[in-house]
Amino acid sequence: MDLMDSKSPKISIVVPVYNEAESLDLLHARIVEVVSSHKITYEIVFVDDGSADDSWSKIEALHRADAAVHGIRFRRNFGKAAALAAGFDQATGEFVITMDADLQDDPQEIPNLIDKLNAGFDVVSGWKKVRHDPWHKTMPSKVFNFLVSWTTGVPLHDHNCGLKAYRREIFDEVQLYGEMHRFVPVLAAARGWKVGEIIVQHHPRKFGYSKYGAKRFIKGLLDLITVYFLTGFRQRPQHLLGSFGLVCLSVGAIGLLILMSLWFITRQSTALDDFHLHQHATFYLSICSLLLGFQMVALGILAELITAISRPAQHPFSIRQRTTTGQPNPPSKADHTSTSDISSHCTHDTL
Ligand code: UDP
Ligand code: MG
Repeated sequence: MDLMDSKSPKISIVVPVYNEAESLDLLHARIVEVVSSHKITYEIVFVDDGSADDSWSKIEALHRADAAVHGIRFRRNFGKAAALAAGFDQATGEFVITMDADLQDDPQEIPNLIDKLNAGFDVVSGWKKVRHDPWHKTMPSKVFNFLVSWTTGVPLHDHNCGLKAYRREIFDEVQLYGEMHRFVPVLAAARGWKVGEIIVQHHPRKFGYSKYGAKRFIKGLLDLITVYFLTGFRQRPQHLLGSFGLVCLSVGAIGLLILMSLWFITRQSTALDDFHLHQHATFYLSICSLLLGFQMVALGILAELITAISRPAQHPFSIRQRTTTGQPNPPSKADHTSTSDISSHCTHDTL
């Protein structure tokens, strides 16, 4: 890639750090090597997420040695999403690249990520095609990626990759909380931003240990339900809850109607044995189904009420361009012509 021209925008590299002291010097050296050889204007924002080791003193030392290094230190461990959110707030670059601190992500990919953004994408996710992690991490990860791609319509191979690149303004619209860092591309795609991916190199962990275990899979699945609801039904919760409720109501009503008909018919005829409702499981199932249906519709009404009276911090839409008087449309950062964007597959409503 040719980043030598002066138009090349400044990039902010945001690195969440939790007990990664041994890796930081090497990571900084590798980043600097890549960005200086490509003449990229850069800043690095290290966010110490409540480390108990020497990470913060390392970050301070790096800041003293390199003015492009900035550090943020949390009072305690708040999680990777919080660390990234703090980094995004501080970032001043036009492009923001996120990278894990443990040397598993390769800074050599920075120019490739920038290339892809320059090609017209708004979010670029890394894909660790050859992954150097144990099977108990890679297997659940494959299932997770399949489920996320299938339910959200954003077919990335590696939603959880730490190496990602964004246009900065995306974070004016997409807020990070909880452990939603895995879903930024999905949340951005739901608002019309173009999402792509590139294959990236991945390395085994050199120092320390992974901060995530099997619980991540469970939490990820729960977050997926939230994201599915937020991206598809935030503005119309009754369409989801009410649809489910109506199905339950119909099943219950039809079941009871059939059972009551049998009760009535057998009592009119002397040839048939009496039909006793309480002896049939379908009777109880139909009543449960009716009750569930009523509850779902009522829940939907409450959710609609909350949606109607709440004042969201962000608009439910995302504007690409506006007409301007007397001059041609200013080129919009989000107005791209690339055809291979992944987000065009996203079938959900916007947030
Ligand atoms: N991390 C963090 N806060 C946490 C957990 C992790 O900032 O509570 C950082 C960690 O220091 C690393 C990145 O998030 O830079 C990814 O963590 P890890 O390497 O443990 O995840 P894995 O690669 O095993 O998925
Ligand atoms: Mg790692």
